[in-house]
Amino acid sequence: MNIILLGPPGAGKGTQARILMETRGMTQLSTGDMLRDARTSGTEMGKKVAAVMDAGKLVTDEIVIGLIEEKLGAGGAPGYIFDGFPRTLAQADALGALLEKLGLPLDAVIEMQVDDEALIQRITARSTCGSCGEVYNDITKPIPADGICPNCGGTEFKRRADDNEDSLKTRLLAYYKQTSPLIGYYYAKGKLSAVDGLQDMHAVAVAIEKVLDA
Ligand code: ADP
Ligand code: ADP
Ligand code: ZN
Repeated sequence: MNIILLGPPGAGKGTQARILMETRGMTQLSTGDMLRDARTSGTEMGKKVAAVMDAGKLVTDEIVIGLIEEKLGAGGAPGYIFDGFPRTLAQADALGALLEKLGLPLDAVIEMQVDDEALIQRITARSTCGSCGEVYNDITKPIPADGICPNCGGTEFKRRADDNEDSLKTRLLAYYKQTSPLIGYYYAKGKLSAVDGLQDMHAVAVAIEKVLDA
């Protein structure tokens, strides 16, 4: 089973992808994580995209399609979770072609609906564990008082350079202009299911399970 988690920045895509990795053993493919890894390791591509990412704009289709193409194989059993990809119609077409070439189905596209006000609150309170990538939130999922990640024992936590209100405005605009047309695109293909992303994260996980088991 291969699925896309579609939603604006802060909708909870990464959080739900990590839950699905635990519960179903699926493989998360996050282009955001891949791009941040490229920056940390200082590759030419990483250097090229840094300013674009910090400003909250989308990097080119060519780059992200290339990243997905590198990772996507016939395996990934029991399936892939596309998190933050595709984000443009060109990316959606490219993903369709790649899956077809590999003989893999696209089973569901889950649109996570969260209003802008909640997104701003979530993004400005977000941090992640530097070792395992577990996603935290100052309000809804605080780092334990002892400063130790319960998931891996790590003690270093990171905030993203683009998780500020200015960059978020650009990211939201990019979402509405370039990514939200994918909602109609996948609806027309009969793949779309909407989930109320404003519920607490466990309730969202249950709603996603319902879609996948339908
Ligand atoms: P968020 O958590 O806000 O949804 P991501 O971690 O998915 O963000 O992405 C962070 C940044 O990386 C984006 O603002 C964009 O600059 C770049 N990026 C990630 N995925 C894509 C993509 N599929 N197409 C273009 N740019 C992307
Ligand atoms: P995305 O990958 O879509 O950008 P994240 O999964 O990183 O979103 O979540 C953004 C922030 O909101 C994180 O701080 C996360 O802990 C928090 N969060 C995720 N899901 C929920 C939820 N259902 N309710 C409240 N906060 C949430
Ligand atoms: Zn950790």
